[in-house]
Amino acid sequence: MSSMDIEEFRAQAHALVDWIADFRAGIAARPVQAQVEPGDVLARLPLSPPDEPEPFDVILRDLDDVIAPGLSHFQHPSFFGYFPANSLPSSVLGDFMSTGLGALGLSWQSAPALAEFEERMTDWMRDLFGLSTAWQGVIQDTASTSTLLALLCARERATNFSMARGGLQDGGEKLVVYVSKYSHSSVDKAALLAGFGRDYVRPIDVDEQFALRPDALEAAIAADRAAGRKPCAIVATTGTTTSTALDPLAAIAATAQRHGLWMHVDGALAGSAMILPECRWMWDGIEGADSIVVNPHKWLGAAFDCSLFYVRDPQHLVRVMGTNPRRRDLALAQELAAEVSAAHAAGWRLVAPVPLQTVCVRHEPPGLAGEALDAHTLRWVEQVNASGSAYLTPALLGGRWMVRVSLGALDTGPADVRAVWAAMRAAAEGAGAG
Ligand SMILES: *Cc1c(COP(=O)(O)O)cnc(C)c1O
Repeated sequence: MSSMDIEEFRAQAHALVDWIADFRAGIAARPVQAQVEPGDVLARLPLSPPDEPEPFDVILRDLDDVIAPGLSHFQHPSFFGYFPANSLPSSVLGDFMSTGLGALGLSWQSAPALAEFEERMTDWMRDLFGLSTAWQGVIQDTASTSTLLALLCARERATNFSMARGGLQDGGEKLVVYVSKYSHSSVDKAALLAGFGRDYVRPIDVDEQFALRPDALEAAIAADRAAGRKPCAIVATTGTTTSTALDPLAAIAATAQRHGLWMHVDGALAGSAMILPECRWMWDGIEGADSIVVNPHKWLGAAFDCSLFYVRDPQHLVRVMGTNPRRRDLALAQELAAEVSAAHAAGWRLVAPVPLQTVCVRHEPPGLAGEALDAHTLRWVEQVNASGSAYLTPALLGGRWMVRVSLGALDTGPADVRAVWAAMRAAAEGAGAG
């Protein structure tokens, strides 16, 4: 028996979509909470896998008989538990598309469209939330992961990149993380995963509205400082899980700034509401934070999982999370090479293959050759270098001058590469005309 062929896939996918549409259309008639006892579902599953694949209609029947009755229904109109996790039908289609493409966004090269689509979508969402363009986002699976990333960024900033040495095992200063008494359990978990240890997580008192008290935060910081410990991060929440309390971000940001703390804002649920301008007072002071998490998979209709993690210093995040900075250089070199190739009509040429991080280019305006072309090349590269905005080296290749763009400085990011390319174009295309 072979695996499903593409024509059978086509037919069964239609059947599955019909099943899902019927399931959604009839969901209100189902009990909201699963009416099964522990072990009921398990008892209906065979102990060993089938020898032959089961026909798809049998699988659909199992969905009806075994799986659907064993679900509590987050999409039910009378679901008032946990938090909303609404997955709109359109979002289900998005999941189909994504799975159907079968692409892996490991790096820019592995799926350029995914990387760039993610960049544009997170920018759109940032603008919809009313955040400034200082923020850049990435998609994570959950708020739990996003908050872990935030605390890793905080830890590495506070220790000047201890991870590149012995990590927290080198016995440096004791780092402290401050959280609200009402922060989500994921905040505690993130602090533990990031290696801070429970003894160094400070739950801060709340006021009568269950919001974190900035005076209590200040006092806790002062006590830790006096004891020789190093305050490292504060996680504030806009919309706590228990009661949707709003921590006073502006006051917390002032404290964070004063003491050099990384400030992360957990807006996993309530962040979605910030697409409404009339709600934005709830996170007044958000621009003073270092990172934010908002979950579109809760209250914006995106099927689980889709969590947005925003930072104000994307290069720091890249440095903390990048597994191999040289891979980043290779990716940036490929991006630049693609830009150069795309500007062929404007006279740009890649004059050598780009296997590594060096991109060799020449600008060849129509009618220029030989020594006149060399003069043009040396003129525009000198103009870029003289501007002080970037530095490039001309070199002889095959007897003609060309310009090398050699990537790999530790802090070079995509914005820097875009900027040097813009400067090259301005210098060469302007000079070529004159
Ligand atoms: C739901 C929630 C979380 C956890 O979100 P996950 O995406 O499930 O990790 C964290 N913080 C708040 C405030 C939440 O409402």
